[in-house]
Amino acid sequence: MDEKKEYDYLIVGSGLFGAVFAHEAIKHGKKCLIIDKRNHIGGNVYCEKIEDINVHKYGAHIFHTNDKTIWDYVNSFVEFNRYTNSPMANYKGQLFNLPFNMNTFYQLWGVKTPQEARDKIKSQIDQALITIPSNLQEQAISLVGNDIYEKLIKGYTEKQWGRSANELPAFIIKRLPVRFTYDNNYFNDKYQGIPIGGYNKLIDGLLGNCEVRLGTDYFSNKQQWSDIAEHTVFTGNIDQFYEYRFGKLEYRSLRFEHEVLDEENHQGNAVVNYTERDIPYTRIIEHKHFEFGTQPKTVVTKEFPEDWTPEKEAYYPINDKKNNEIFEKYKMLGVDELNVTFGGRLANYQYYDMHQIIGSALKIASGHFSSPN
Ligand SMILES: Cc1cc2nc3c(=O)[nH]c(=O)nc-3n(C[C@H](O)[C@H](O)[C@H](O)COP(=O)(O)OP(=O)(O)OC[C@H]3O[C@@H](n4cnc5c(N)ncnc54)[C@H](O)[C@@H]3O)c2cc1C
Repeated sequence: MDEKKEYDYLIVGSGLFGAVFAHEAIKHGKKCLIIDKRNHIGGNVYCEKIEDINVHKYGAHIFHTNDKTIWDYVNSFVEFNRYTNSPMANYKGQLFNLPFNMNTFYQLWGVKTPQEARDKIKSQIDQALITIPSNLQEQAISLVGNDIYEKLIKGYTEKQWGRSANELPAFIIKRLPVRFTYDNNYFNDKYQGIPIGGYNKLIDGLLGNCEVRLGTDYFSNKQQWSDIAEHTVFTGNIDQFYEYRFGKLEYRSLRFEHEVLDEENHQGNAVVNYTERDIPYTRIIEHKHFEFGTQPKTVVTKEFPEDWTPEKEAYYPINDKKNNEIFEKYKMLGVDELNVTFGGRLANYQYYDMHQIIGSALKIASGHFSSPN
């Protein structure tokens, strides 16, 4: 009989998926090792303390969910504050509330009643005479009319994707929610907030009893790492796992420019989007506002969308036909793996919010641990 391996589970990646899975495995008496190629735990929700402010190093993260079980789960590790995401948009120096709601419509057109706003949007949609949208520009105009599109969607989207809106496929925008109430809360979910003390507290809580090795790339010695445990949970790039045999999956990347400013309050809000094309960044994040900070200084981050190359962080999958077909082939190989479970955003080649990642990690973990040990 084969000798039992040192660990029950090797978990590749200490992001939310890996951390939740590890927590559940340890709770069920399993011996786990988690490795991460970065020099910190937490994956993309990691925060770095700068000037006593929790800086979201890989982009602003706001937790939101409708699922009470997931909300209670995260709150069992760290208390969440009452932060509500209400981003502003700056278009050529003019400020607008987001998401599109009665405040935005008042700022755009001076309309005060929902009926006036509906009439304005409808007349612009009718004027555009678009029956079947053939690109993103036509899709957006057919949903919200020209003014909202020109001032609040066009430039931002073109920067995000690095292409003109009339060259982008219509499917990127499925719907554009408009709200006919004076309500600047970006999310519709029942629960929303930021962990008090930052996301690291959530990850620390999840990984409290787990052995972790940082600065350790699974691919530095795939065989050795696979041999160390009975089962591997892999949350890295699935195409790399299979040595890119069907080709590389493509992403959009981001570059962040962090800056400490010697002032207490720079922009009065955590998130301000810059929706004109000529400003190269898409938004400025002022991190202290996520936690209602009163520190004497502030830290702001400009977010610049970029083309992705393999040395850069893979942030947003490009789920077009070509890439999805390649992914399906990798996924089929994954189905046949007996000792490897794939999880998280990179292995699934899909953008997921945090609550979705936690939900899927809990579901997969319950599949592993629901039967008696
Ligand atoms: C800019 C941006 C903003 C976002 N904002 C929000 C938000 O406001 N609200 C929200 O709900 N969600 C948000 N998200 C989504 C959120 O980041 C994800 O849902 C979540 O972080 C995914 O967790 P994960 O564990 O799947 O992946 P990750 O956090 O990426 O973790 C994967 C880990 O695996 C490690 N790894 C990869 N390959 C290897 C290897 N070969 N060897 C060792 N380690 C490896 C990586 O270093 C990483 O630490 C945002 C995402 C982005 C990109």
